[in-house]
Amino acid sequence: MKIAVLPGDGIGTEIMAEAVKVLKALDLTFEMEEALVGGAAYEAHGHPLPDSTLNLAKAADAVLFGAVGDWKYDKLDRPLRPEQAILGLRKHLGLFANFRPAICYEQLVGASSLKPELIAGLDILIIRELTGDIYFGQPRGRRTAVDGHFPGAEEAFDTMRYSRPEIERIAHVAFQAARKRNKKVTSVDKANVLETFQFWKDVVTEVHAQYPDVELDHMYVDNAAMQLVKAPKKFDVVVTGNMFGDILSDEAAMLTGSIGMLPSASLDKHNKGLYEPSHGSAPDIAGKGIANPLATILSAAMMLRFSLQQPEAADRIESAVRSVLAAGYRTGDIWSEGMKQVGTREMGDAVVAALITKTITKS
Ligand code: NAD
Repeated sequence: MKIAVLPGDGIGTEIMAEAVKVLKALDLTFEMEEALVGGAAYEAHGHPLPDSTLNLAKAADAVLFGAVGDWKYDKLDRPLRPEQAILGLRKHLGLFANFRPAICYEQLVGASSLKPELIAGLDILIIRELTGDIYFGQPRGRRTAVDGHFPGAEEAFDTMRYSRPEIERIAHVAFQAARKRNKKVTSVDKANVLETFQFWKDVVTEVHAQYPDVELDHMYVDNAAMQLVKAPKKFDVVVTGNMFGDILSDEAAMLTGSIGMLPSASLDKHNKGLYEPSHGSAPDIAGKGIANPLATILSAAMMLRFSLQQPEAADRIESAVRSVLAAGYRTGDIWSEGMKQVGTREMGDAVVAALITKTITKS
């Protein structure tokens, strides 16, 4: 099993060190090879995704990714900005399905801004299509308007589009994922206004005919945004397009209290994937040793389950994280009165200790 390890920028290097430590504590044999990506790669090679990094990612069975970006790169031409590395990896590796579980750990119920009864036991999965939609549709650009409300004025435009195969493959992914959970899919669209999403709704409904054991409902995106904060436990699997998924998955992430807890996976059609925390490089806390490494450690668990066919090892990591939380260990982002505040490295050490002993002393 070969893993490409791409720590990236900011807290990326700090949280990745902990995830690697946890992987090394398992009784499995991995080949892990590290490479630069994002701003760090731009500094060293003049590009955020150098060929050497891309080739390593292509050759590996899975990619474990930290985070990229720093405000100091905001003035660079767009193709050279650190975040372009993620888009490049998605494109070259054919990653079209983004999985973002939003799980509320019993011990962290108090960290959410919602009432405990609304989120206790929350376990939903947002599946976002990653390669189509208005983010990639052509043409796009700026021009002089020839019609509309202000002919002759400068305007900007993008193109929203989805093809049938793009919708079919993400719908299959969602129905298959739902079969392993509570067998319910909510497809989120804006079919009342957008032609693209009427088509989306029609195609998802057609694919559903192959999954009679799974319940399907459709919801407009504005209602979905409301329902996520009103009654999030009503959802099981949510499937949606690239832009709506971008927004709703961040909203769902915050339901659980901290973005520092949330892993994600982006998969290709063979379940090869890129695994990364849902958060960014957090330049505001980089280098301080206080970042929460659990999202990255849980991303490593997803990698073991989805791409490396090691479900028992994934379960072990997830249960080690639960016992560390039960023992009261907290990084600053999830800390509350009476808990033991720890830094990035101590949190990683605690997970390793829980993995090895299967229990951890209460603080
Ligand atoms: P961010 O997710 O980096 O940080 C948002 C807030 O959450 C900050 O206050 C940060 O300190 C906190 N935070 C994030 N992760 C944390 C963790 N593990 N532990 C504790 N606190 C944590 O988002 P941002 O500030 O909007 O962006 C910073 C940089 O990251 C930008 O350059 C942005 O483009 C980039 N970014 C990268 C990715 C990625 O690599 N996939 C995703 C989002 C943003």
